[in-house]
Amino acid sequence: MIDLLIKNVTSSTHDRLFDVAIDKGVISVIAEQLNYDAEEVIDGRGSLLLPGFVESHVHLDIALSNDGNVPGRKEPYLSHYGLNDTLERRRKQFTPEDILERITRAIRLAVRHGVTAMRAQCHVDRTVGLKHLEVLLRAKEIFSSHMSLQIVVFPQQGLTNHPDNVFLFREALRNGADVMGAASNLDRADDGSTNFKAHLDKAMEIAVQEDVDLDAHVDLGLPPAVHSLDKLETVYLAQKVIECGYQGRVTAGHVSALDSAEPAVAQEAIAMIREAQLHVVSQPDLYRLGRDDRQSKRRGLTRVKELINAGINVAYASNNVRDPLRPMGNFDLVEEGLVLAHGAHMDTIEELGTIIKMSTDNAARILGLKRYGIKAGNDADLVILDCQTPQEALISQAEKSHVIKRGKILATNKRFNELYW
Ligand SMILES: [Zn+2]
Repeated sequence: MIDLLIKNVTSSTHDRLFDVAIDKGVISVIAEQLNYDAEEVIDGRGSLLLPGFVESHVHLDIALSNDGNVPGRKEPYLSHYGLNDTLERRRKQFTPEDILERITRAIRLAVRHGVTAMRAQCHVDRTVGLKHLEVLLRAKEIFSSHMSLQIVVFPQQGLTNHPDNVFLFREALRNGADVMGAASNLDRADDGSTNFKAHLDKAMEIAVQEDVDLDAHVDLGLPPAVHSLDKLETVYLAQKVIECGYQGRVTAGHVSALDSAEPAVAQEAIAMIREAQLHVVSQPDLYRLGRDDRQSKRRGLTRVKELINAGINVAYASNNVRDPLRPMGNFDLVEEGLVLAHGAHMDTIEELGTIIKMSTDNAARILGLKRYGIKAGNDADLVILDCQTPQEALISQAEKSHVIKRGKILATNKRFNELYW
C-alpha cells in the first residue's frame, strides 16, 4: 500500500499518459498504467503534471499589508523613495502577531496557486531589528510540511549608511536566515548618489564570511541611456563574484537598467553575467518604471530573452504582493508568467514553454533545491493543472486542480462554468 497514486497525467517530456507512485513524501515510480493499492488516488484524466512552482523572490514579511477591502492604490504612485517612506511608516505598526497572520494568509494563497517553495526576503535593520526574522523563522517551522521556505536577510535601510548595524546581518544569518540580501539603491554617498559599490562590497563580504549565497537587488532604476559597462551595477556585481570565486551562488534581481544599455554594452554585460554564473530574477518591473516618460514610455523589464539565449539561468517571481510597493499579485506564477510573456515578447510555443520552466526548474536552481522535479527519488512536490500543455497553462490561465507537497494533497481547486445556450 502506497500513500498516493496519480494516474493519467501528461508532461512536456512524455509522449503518452503516465502514472506516478508516491510514498513517504517521495516519488517512488513513474511509469505507464501502474497498479498499486494506494491510500489516495488522483485520476488526472490527461492533465498536465508539473513540479511545484517556486517563488524565487518575494517580500513575505510585508506582503498583504495594504489596508482596506478594495485592492489598488489609494494615492497615485510616488517615487520609489516615496513608497519606501510609506512602508517605513506602516511597518512601525507591525506586531509579531500581525506579521505571522499575514504570512499565514500569504502561504495559504501561495499553496492554493501551486507554490511549494519560496525564497522570502526579510527586513533586518535598526528599526525592526530581528523582529521580522523571528516571525519568519517561526513560520518556517509551523509550515514546514506545507512550504519550503528560504529566508534572505534584506537590508531595508542599507548596509553602509549605518555600519554599526552590520552585526545584525551576521546575527540574523547565525540565527537561521539562509541567504545574504542586498539592495544596491539603499545606500547613499555624500553627494546623494547611490553608493552601490560600497553596498555590494559589504554584502559580498558578509556572504563570503558567513558562507551563504547572496541575493541582490541590482540596477533597479532606468537611466535614459547606458553607454558604458561601469554604469551597470550588475556588471560590478559579476566582477565581485568572479573575484571572490562565488560563481553560481549569487542571484541578481530586477536588472532593469540593462534595458537602457546600448546593444553592444548590453551584449558585453550579458557575457559578464554568464561568466559570473549569476542567476537573474525578473520581477514585475513592467509595472514600476518609466512612469515619468512623456512619450514612448519605457517599462524597464530586463532583457529576458537575450539573457536566456546566452544560457543564463533566468527566473521570474512575484516580488511584492499587495503591499505599499505593489497593490497587485496573488503569489500566482501562472498569472505573473502571462504578464512576462506580454512584456518580454515571448509568444512562440518554445518561449511559452520556457516561461513555465523559469518558475519551476530555473527558480529551483536558484534556491538550490535538491530532489526537485518529476523524477523517481525526488520529493513529491507537484501540481496538476487543468490543461494538457505548459503553453495552455499560461494562455488559458489554467486552474491548479491539485497541489501536492511531500506527497500530501494540500489544495484542490475547480473552475466552474455553465453555458445556458
Ligand atoms: Zn525585492
